[in-house]
Amino acid sequence: MGLPRRVVPLVLGWATLPTSVSLPRCAPDRAARPLREPVPGLLVELDGGWLLIDAGFNAPLLRDRALRERFFTQPDHRYELVGPADADPLEAACGLVGVDLRDVVAVAISHFHFDHVGGLRHFAGRAPVYVQRAEYDAAMADPVQAELSAGMFRIDWDDPRIDWRFLDGDAPIVDGVDAVLTAGHTPGHQSFVVRLADTGRSDTGRSDTGRSDTGRYPGYVFACDAADLQENLDEEVPVSAHDGVDHEVTVEAIRRLKAIAARFGYRVLPGHDPVVWPAFAVECGVPTFD
Ligand SMILES: [Zn+2]
Repeated sequence: MGLPRRVVPLVLGWATLPTSVSLPRCAPDRAARPLREPVPGLLVELDGGWLLIDAGFNAPLLRDRALRERFFTQPDHRYELVGPADADPLEAACGLVGVDLRDVVAVAISHFHFDHVGGLRHFAGRAPVYVQRAEYDAAMADPVQAELSAGMFRIDWDDPRIDWRFLDGDAPIVDGVDAVLTAGHTPGHQSFVVRLADTGRSDTGRSDTGRSDTGRYPGYVFACDAADLQENLDEEVPVSAHDGVDHEVTVEAIRRLKAIAARFGYRVLPGHDPVVWPAFAVECGVPTFD
C-alpha cells in the first residue's frame, strides 16, 4: 500500500469550556473564561479507503434529556453537535467532505474521552479500531469511576463487535501513519504522525519541491489532546492530566511531539485550538461546520 494521499480535517462538534480545562496552569483571571473549542476528527486518504482518527460525540447521549443529565454533569461546560438536527454529526461531517462512513476502512482513537470516542459505534463489526492497550485497560479497570470522574463513558465503546487492535507504545497503524504514545492527558493517550505521498513530483519523477531528503515527504504531527491549543505547543505549558497525575507531566509529550516534527520538518497541529483547527481545514481546502 502506498503512502496516504491527503488529510481531511473535520469539525465534529464544539465544546465551550472554562479556559482552565486546556490550560490548567493559566492565570486565575483567565481560568474561568469560556473558550469555544472545536471537537476534531481527521480523515486520512489511503489507497483503499479512509482512516478515521477520532470520532467525536455520541450524539444520542446529548440529544436524550435523561442521558444528557446522566453523562454531562458540569454546569459550566456546553456541547454542540454539528449538522442537521436529525442527522448523526459524524455522518454529516464526513458527508460535507464527500466521504461515506462505509468507506472508512480503519479507525484510530487518540483517547477515550467522550468527545473523541462517541462515534465508534458506527464501526463496530465493520473496521479495525486502533487504541493503546493502556487506555483501554485504564477505562475498563473501573468503568463507574471512569464515567463519574474521568469523562470516559463505557457505553461509547462497550460493543462486543468492535475489532480492537491494541497498541503497546509507538507503533505503525498503516503505511505512513504512526501512533505515538503521549500518555499524561490520559493513561494511554496517543498522537499521530502522518507522512503523505509527495505529490509535488514533476513528470520526470524528480521531486521539484526542493525539500531535503528527510523533508522529502510532506507530513504532519497530530497532537490530539496532548496539546489542546497552539499555546500549549508554543509556550510548552501543560494540558490537564488524568486523575492523580501532576499536569506538568503532560509537557514531556508536547516536547516529544515537537522533536519529532523538527526531525522531519513537519508541522504539529494542536487538537482543540479554536483558530488553528478551522484554519487548517481552510488550508486543506475542505469545508467544516462552524
Ligand atoms: Zn478532547
